[in-house]
Order: sequence, then C-alpha cells, then structure tokens
Amino acid sequence: MLEINSSANTQLETIPSSASNSNGKYPKMNGQEGFVQRHLGPNFQEIQQMLKLLEVSSLEDLIDQTIPSTIRLNQSLQLPEALSEYAALNQLKAIASQNKVYRSFIGMGYADCITPGVIQRNILENPGWYTAYTPYQAEIAQGRLEALLNFQTLIIDLTGLEIANASLLDEATAAAEAMSLSYGVSKTKANSFFVSQDCHPQTIDVVKTRAIPLGIDIIIGDHQTFDFNTPLFGCLLQYPASDGIIYDYRNFIETAHNHNALVTVAADILSLTLLTPPGEFGADIAVGSTQRLGVPLGYGGPHAAYFATKEAYKRNVPGRIVGVSKDAQGNPALRLALQTREQHIRRDKATSNICTAQVLLAVIASLYAVYHGPSGLQQIAQTIHQLTLTLAEGLKRLGYSMGTEPFFDTIKVELGEKSLTEILSAAAAKEINLRVIDQHTVGISLDETTTIQDIMDLWEIFAGSELPFSVEEVLKTSENITAFTRKSAYLTHPVFNSYHSETELLRYIHRLETKDLSLNTSMIPLGSCTMKLNATAEMIPVTWPEFGKLHPFAPKEQTQGYQILFEQLENWLAEITGFAGISLQPNAGSQGEYTGLLVIRKYHENRGEIHRNICLIPESAHGTNPASAVLCGFKVVPVVCDDQGNIDIADLQAKAEKHQNNLAALMITYPSTHGVFETGIEAICNIIHANGGQVYLDGANMNAQVGLCRPGNFGADVCHLNLHKTFCIPHGGGGPGMGPIGVASHLVPFLPGHAVVELEGNDRIGAVSAAPWGSASILVISWMYIAMMGAKGLTEATKVAILNANYIARRLDEYYPTLYKGNQGFVAHECILDLRSVKKSAGIEVDDIAKRLMDYGFHAPTVSWPVAGTMMVEPTESESKAELDRFCDTMIAIRQEIANIESGVMDATNNVLKNAPHTAISLICGEWNHPYSREQAAYPAPWTKEHKFWPSVGRIDNAFGDRNFVCSCLPMAAYQ
Ligand SMILES: *Cc1c(COP(=O)(O)O)cnc(C)c1O
Repeated sequence: MLEINSSANTQLETIPSSASNSNGKYPKMNGQEGFVQRHLGPNFQEIQQMLKLLEVSSLEDLIDQTIPSTIRLNQSLQLPEALSEYAALNQLKAIASQNKVYRSFIGMGYADCITPGVIQRNILENPGWYTAYTPYQAEIAQGRLEALLNFQTLIIDLTGLEIANASLLDEATAAAEAMSLSYGVSKTKANSFFVSQDCHPQTIDVVKTRAIPLGIDIIIGDHQTFDFNTPLFGCLLQYPASDGIIYDYRNFIETAHNHNALVTVAADILSLTLLTPPGEFGADIAVGSTQRLGVPLGYGGPHAAYFATKEAYKRNVPGRIVGVSKDAQGNPALRLALQTREQHIRRDKATSNICTAQVLLAVIASLYAVYHGPSGLQQIAQTIHQLTLTLAEGLKRLGYSMGTEPFFDTIKVELGEKSLTEILSAAAAKEINLRVIDQHTVGISLDETTTIQDIMDLWEIFAGSELPFSVEEVLKTSENITAFTRKSAYLTHPVFNSYHSETELLRYIHRLETKDLSLNTSMIPLGSCTMKLNATAEMIPVTWPEFGKLHPFAPKEQTQGYQILFEQLENWLAEITGFAGISLQPNAGSQGEYTGLLVIRKYHENRGEIHRNICLIPESAHGTNPASAVLCGFKVVPVVCDDQGNIDIADLQAKAEKHQNNLAALMITYPSTHGVFETGIEAICNIIHANGGQVYLDGANMNAQVGLCRPGNFGADVCHLNLHKTFCIPHGGGGPGMGPIGVASHLVPFLPGHAVVELEGNDRIGAVSAAPWGSASILVISWMYIAMMGAKGLTEATKVAILNANYIARRLDEYYPTLYKGNQGFVAHECILDLRSVKKSAGIEVDDIAKRLMDYGFHAPTVSWPVAGTMMVEPTESESKAELDRFCDTMIAIRQEIANIESGVMDATNNVLKNAPHTAISLICGEWNHPYSREQAAYPAPWTKEHKFWPSVGRIDNAFGDRNFVCSCLPMAAYQ
C-alpha cells in the first residue's frame, strides 16, 4: 500500500529495519529493500561464520563480553522507524521544499556562484573524490595532492604572498588562526590585537571568542583614525571592507610594522584578480574564503578558507601544506610537508589544533580556476564589477547616495527618505535579499550569477515606480578602481592554461582521480577515522538547490526547511548521545573539542571559578586534544596509561586530587584510543566530578557506542561527534567534516552564539565558526543516514563494527598480536596490531608494511598511532567478510614475505617491502636489479591480476622535501 505523498509529515512506508529473519534477508516491502542491509558489509550467514571463529554464540553475546554491563543502554533509542532510500529522499525533499531560495545580495563573505557541471558531477558528486582520506599515504594520493598544490599556487598567485596551506575551515577561523600565528611569532610583549570595524561581523565574533581564553585584548576600531598608542602584536583588516569600500592600507601597514605588529588582510579572493594583492602592499598574512570559486553557498558551508603568509613562518602555519619532494626513482612527488609541526607530534606545544580541513572544497575551487584560467577569472570579476558600477549609477540617478570611495562588487546605499521597511518589502516581493546595515542603510553585493535583469529588479525596488531610464543609458564600462588596479600576472602555470575545453578538463580530473585510492577501490581501514560507507542516497540531497543556494544570513522565514532539519538532527543526536543539548556549529572534531572546552570554561566562570584551568589528558589522547586545551587557556597535565592501555586510575586520582582547586576538565576518548572499552569509565568520571572538574569525551569513537551505551549516561558532560566518521559524511580527502557537540543540561546555556543570526539565551559563548550552523548543507548526509537506519539499524551497525574488528584481530592474532584487549579478550571497533617484533627480526618498519600494502591494492591502516610501530585497524560495519578476508590474507602474505627475510631467503635490504610500492614504470622501464620477480613485486595476490591499482610514484622521500621546501606548482621542466 505504497502511497506517494510528498508531505513531510507523511511516513511513506516503513521497513522493519532490524530483524534479520531466518534466511538472513531483511524483509522486502513493495519491492523496496531496507537500507540497513546495504549499509552493512556482512550478511546474516557471514555474521554467523564470523561469530563462530570468535567462539561466541551470538552478536549479543559478543557485545556482552565487550562492553561493560554497567554502562549498557537497556532500552532502544527513541528514533523514527527506518525509511528506505526512496522514502527518506522523499521525506527530505518535502523538508527541503520549505526552504525558499531567494536571490541573495547580502554579501558578507558569501557570494552565489556557478559550479561548472563538469566539476559538480566529476568531483563534488563523485565517490572517487569524496570518499578519499587525508593524503597521509602520499604514493596513492598524488591526484588530490596535485589538485591541492594547484590550490596553493592559486592562493599564492592571487594574494602575492610566498606560501599557502591546503585550506582551513572558514574565513573567520582562518582569521583567528592568523591572530594566533601573529601572537606566536611576535617579537613584542604586547597582547593586543587590532581588528578593523570594517571586517565581516562574524569574523570579528570568532576572533573575539578565540582571544578571550588566550588573554588577548581585542581592539575594534577605525583603521583610518587608529593611533597605535596601545602596543599591538597584530592587526586584522578586510579588503575590500565588509561594506564594499576598497581602502589603501599601505600607510596603516607601514605604521603597524614600525610598531612591530604583523598585519593580516582578509581578502576577497575573486577581487584579487583585479586589485593589487595584499602581498604587494605589505601584508604579512592573507586569509579568506574560496567559496565563490565554484562552491555552493550551502547555508554556510562547507567551503575552503585559505591562509597565505611569508616563508619565514612556514613552521607556524596552521593546517596542512602540500609540498613537493621526490620519490625513490628521483621523480617529483607530492606529500604533506613539515609534518613535524603538527599536533600529533607537538601536543600542547602545537601552534594550532586543525586536523580535518576542507580538502574537497579546495579541490573544487582549484579546478574552478583550472576551468576558467586567469583570463576567465578576470573576466568574471570584471563583469561583476561593471554590473556593480551600473547598479550604482542607476541608484544615483534615482536619487540615492552611496559615497565616492572605490568598490569592487559591493555598495552601501543610504536610503534617504525611504524607510527600511518599504525597501525590504519591495525586495521581498521580488524574492530578493539585501543586507541590512542599519535603519537607514542597506548593502548590495553582486556575484557571478547576477544578470542585467537582476540589476533592473534592484533598481525597481529602490525606484518604487517605473524606471525613469533604460539600462543602456546607465551601462558602465569604465572602472573606479584604477588606483588599485593589479599589474602583476597570476596563474601563469600551464595547469591553469591548458584544460579549457571540457574534454581536456574531464580527462584531467579523471587522471587525477585515478591516481588516488579511495573507497571505490578497497577498504581504508584507518583506526579512529571510521571510513564507512558514504551511501549515494545520503549524498544526493547535498546538491539540491533548496539546500545549496541559501545564503547563511538569509532571513529565518526562508530557511524553515533547514530549521526542521537542524531540530530533527539535534534531537536524534541528543537521543543517541544521552545529552540535553546539541550545537551544530563546530566545523570539525578539533573545533568541537575547542568549543566543548570553552563551554566548560564558561561554566566554571559562571560559578565564580574561572581559576580552574587544569586539563587532565591521558598520554594516549589524539594530538588535537592537548592542542585544543591550550587554545582554551588550559594547562595540560598528562595522565599515565597502564600496560593494558587503560588509564591508570591511581595516577588519575592522584592528579585530580592534587589539582582539585584548579581542576577544569578531563579529556578522555571512549572507547579508548587503544581500542578498548575501559571498565573504569564511570569511576573515572566520578573522580573528576568529585574534584570539581568536568568530563570532556572525545566522541571520535562513537561508532562503537551508538545504540549500546551513551556518554551522557555514564558521566560525560560534553562530547563531540565527528559526523564525518560515525555519521557518514565522507572525508573528502581531508575535509569537509562536522564536529557538533552534545552537552548535559547544566551546560546548555553556554552553547555557542552568533553575531549575525541571533540564537536564544544570554550566557552563550561567542561564535566558533563563521556560520551559525557550521557546514549546514552536509548535515543532510547524517540526517539521511539516521533516517534510513533507525534505532535498530544503527545499533546493528555498531555491533557489526565491533564484530568486524574482532574478526580481523582474531584472524591475524598469530601473525600480528593485538596489543590491547578488554578483560574478556575482545576489542571495541578497532584493533592495534603490534608489528614491532619484525623490526628486530627482519629490519622491517611499520612504514615498509604500509607501502607494501599498496602493491596489494590496499590503503594502510593508521600507522604508529597511538603507539609507535603499530597499525590500528578499523574496518567499520560496511566492509563485507570477503573484503575483511582479502585484507587479512594480504597481511598474512606480507608476514610470509617478512619471514623470508628473517630466514635469509630474501635479501635484507633489496626486498619487496623495502622497495614498495612498485610503480608500473619501475617494473617495465630500465634494468630490473632486484632478487625477486616483477610479478612478485606488482602482482602478489590473485585479485591484483583482476584489477590492479597502481601507485603513481615510488616511495617518497619526506626529509628531502622539507629540506628543499616548495609548496607551489613546479615548472613543467621538472617533470621532463
Ligand atoms: C579524528 C579525531 C579527532 C579530530 O577530528 P577532526 O575532525 O579531524 O578535527 C580527534 N580525536 C580523535 C580520537 C580522532 O580520531
């Protein structure tokens, strides 16, 4: 009785998602299968076989022996019945249709744009791109590394600075990172930072939030009258200013430099094709958003921010930098550079907590530049500028004044006699949004999508009657930016000048894609990263215009669909975590950590205990934890782990008591980063509470908990969720991500606010992201996942994730022992394989095994974290038994190869592991000087003959690249 009805409130049909019936099939209804069985890898029979190997009687039995009974949730989650893919898409479409897509001329750092079809379909909607992981295994990631190197080159060229990173989370947090960098490298003792009042308000908000715990004073003022009497370490300017004016900042910057202050310029990336770039007028750092380079507005994100600076600061740059190095054959090869700066090494000395960034969006922006080339980009900017001049001229003729300063795409219109209400209602009648600056002033920003018809509509709004002139009469072709006209060339590299036919671009994109191993090739069993299925049905709504074309500051009446989506998702996540409130604002796990700790800080402050500043963090914690704690002004005190990988409770107790007067928080990951459900978790939480602290739970491992236990129930006060791990947002090759936090009721009042979009409550901390709901448009992915899985499906997924991990641990135990297990001998959803013995016996490092896995067509698990010399394997519930077996067979075959080295059958240095990965060229061209065959090198397993994934470069020399640091495109000659 399937009835098609698009109303949001109508449940189209429900599939009993749970129950596997006796033949292992999920029931069918009306020809539609439930989604759960598609999401799960192993089927019912396979699950039985795997349980048998583990010698447990049922999945339930396995879970009973894995998760401490004291924390088990003994009711099922209160979530709506699971929907099929078809029904969920219909239901979401009905929600989407409640969003109204107006033409937005709001600006403020967000501009509508056109995503070229070839990029939308072949990158944004292509799992070959979006399911990739952060390119740590660089030999099988050269495609996106090249796209990111193009991105860095684009940013370096347009900003006129020396180096750039491979993206940050948004413009506002990039500005905050610039402040931190300036503070860190400053030669003065000053602790004041000047922020121009002409910056975007959300940027000012985020910078203010960031400054508070660091003890930085923010001085907001007019750069034209600022007297520099207060010592500063840095300044932030906007170019063009938020209201559109282009200022000449040269004198200001010179004075700032004379006072030892660094200057950051937040610049509109497209304007820099026409305007003198910040690097040419003295800026030390440039930041901004690359959204308008082909990335949908998405009601706030995801978008890639950029960060460019001088080479002198390369070790202080936040986020990842792609650098050029060479491979074992001496050919140019790309990899993530200067890894030694990162948090997992520097811990609480790290300069930033950024981990996941916005790789997929940076790739899109870079390909947009490849698609248009320098003259195409300039043409787009020129057209926008001329339309803006034309708009301004017409408004002048209509009697409005807008100042005489030069502008690029944004004007500020004084309303004069007209009331704001009058203008806004005329605009609303035409489904147009303007920026309200105050009761007498509006802002209008044009973009790539603006047409002559839009200009006429805008005039009509202000004319209030028939237009007294024609477009032809006022059409402007001259420019008003001559004093700022850019003279230097940009994007001269062939990559930006070669692929302007669609055929060429399609092939370039495909060539890059096929260099990268993503989930459409094989499992990517990265511990702690949860590389599960990113189902197509979950991804489809991302590019629906009802979600994609909304400006983040559009009036709430137009965003009802989004409001419903947020409310439902928040309720579901609250139910899943056991918390009272959720904030969807943080844009990555690291940002969730920072936000959660700020909330804790605010809670202590509110109780008159702002002095609480000690943050206990176990030694095994993810590197972002200590880095985030420091950003919140906390002092990190490490807690020891015992030889089972568990927190040493005696040590914890001693440290909590020692610091009881100043204890702010404990940060703990659960199940632990050692892949075990610690039985002492409740006791641990109690110790912290008894000593006045709050418990922050790093929820990166939530995939082991959903439906089985809830952080809010066993004592945590705050927890972040990596929606790009547990809740199916794809990793995008290193972003986007989302890191919402859940908090217990006493912390709800302190969740983040926003300067532009008002959120209820007066006790909120400031904004932590540029947009009020972070990267809103990708929340549809997690919504779809939960809607299609339902309570039973989600719980089943968790159980299968635990089963899959235990299956691998058991199958590999005699070859590579699992380092840590729970007290009944089982791991959680991941297992750490101890590879350290083969270093002694055969001189084989964990990296050699990681690279050899590539020859077999696999991506290595997490290497040397959280324990050096080990691999942490997280298969997730989405991998089938066949794939798990293929992986185990590979690991066993590699163990045999190592055994051949141990026994002397294979050479100790010239062997398949040390020379891995093997490229096609190294096999076919030139001499073959190895004591093993080409076939052994490249076709070590039967499936490689069926489908061979070729690494595109040989083993990369990391140290060489760091000694000879290059982070922009090499001249083509380097490749000959
Ligand atoms: C992934 C991860 C993080 C960081 O999350 P990002 O989204 O990359 O910022 C923090 N803690 C743990 C344990 C993680 O696995």
